[in-house]
Amino acid sequence: NTDTEVELMGKMEMLPIYQPREKFSNKGTFGHALIIGGSYGKIGAVMLSGRAALASGVGLVTTFTPKCGYIPLQSAFPEAMAITDIDDENITTIKFDIEPTAIAVGMGMGTDKNTHLALQEFLKVNTAPLVIDADALNIVSKHKSDLKLLKPQTILTPHPKELERLIGTWKDDFDKLKKAKAFSKKYKCILVIKGAHTITVFESKFYVNSTGNPGLATAGTGDVLTGIITGLICQGYEPLIAAVFGVYLHGKSADIAVEDYGYQSLTASHVIDYLGRAYLSLF
Ligand code: AMP
Ligand code: MG
Repeated sequence: NTDTEVELMGKMEMLPIYQPREKFSNKGTFGHALIIGGSYGKIGAVMLSGRAALASGVGLVTTFTPKCGYIPLQSAFPEAMAITDIDDENITTIKFDIEPTAIAVGMGMGTDKNTHLALQEFLKVNTAPLVIDADALNIVSKHKSDLKLLKPQTILTPHPKELERLIGTWKDDFDKLKKAKAFSKKYKCILVIKGAHTITVFESKFYVNSTGNPGLATAGTGDVLTGIITGLICQGYEPLIAAVFGVYLHGKSADIAVEDYGYQSLTASHVIDYLGRAYLSLF
């Protein structure tokens, strides 16, 4: 298509994006991330996203999970504040009295009927920049009318299966990108199409990432990406920039970590632990 622009995103493209940390700053300067998700047996997804947001540089992290998330989160993630649903195993009402700078929703959340209703109510009232991932994507894919509730510049981060549920099947890669572009235009949202070469789509623009490796094909790495992108928005990056930069840093962290752990043994937690090295690689 004639209006399509494609850009390959490498280190040179990241340098003008990167915002150095100021001397006269405090944790309030870097925003407050709210990570909503989890269900019985899947609290780890929220923990990974929250820890990744923290490692990306956000000032404060709060998690919102069912009640069963309270003890594990408070024990294993002391930097975060934890608030919970009234239900023990699933999210049934998304209500909180904090004012987050940006929000991530969906990791490990399940697709329970009550969780769907809670998400729907939340999408109606929320005004904070939002990243939608995992089961929140599955819910809106199943109830396509909910997509109309998305505010402009909402970020969606589907892996291939989630993308298929969202935009339908495609004939080939060209067809896939055409459908992704139409979807982004229709809902004014930013689509992060995850895979070996993650492509961020916004309207007619495609940003092809240059970092990452097959070591990332392991549990929880997507949750980590969502946390990073949310953390970057909290620090003042525009949503589209946060998506592109977040995808780059996530892949770069994995590229550095794989030197120490190898493709087989790389885990999502390593990607969080090496995020600092990914930032340092920009200098
Ligand atoms: P998820 O499936 O939601 O856990 O997300 C997986 C993450 O790992 C995404 O950021 C993918 O882009 C990345 N990933 C998965 N497989 C590969 C691969 N073979 N090469 C590079 N990145 C990958
Ligand atoms: Mg995922």
